[in-house]
Amino acid sequence: MAGVAWNIPMKTYLDFDPRKGWPSRSGLFYECQICGDVIASAPAEYARCRCRNFSIDVDAGRMGARDEEKVRLFEEVG
Ligand SMILES: [Zn+2]
Repeated sequence: MAGVAWNIPMKTYLDFDPRKGWPSRSGLFYECQICGDVIASAPAEYARCRCRNFSIDVDAGRMGARDEEKVRLFEEVG
């Protein structure tokens, strides 16, 4: 699936508050704790994880999760 990134060498998990917005930039990724998929925070096109908990709608400029507690944000290091 487009937007799914595997083989991230090093991760630094970051705190974020979904109610204040979902960070989106190169080097930041979201990891679904339900299905384990990793989604780039700034994909080129619509992306979502396998279990559909987390999705990014690039065209609409929206992203979000059904269960925000099950999504983690991390930064690629190195
Ligand atoms: Zn998922």
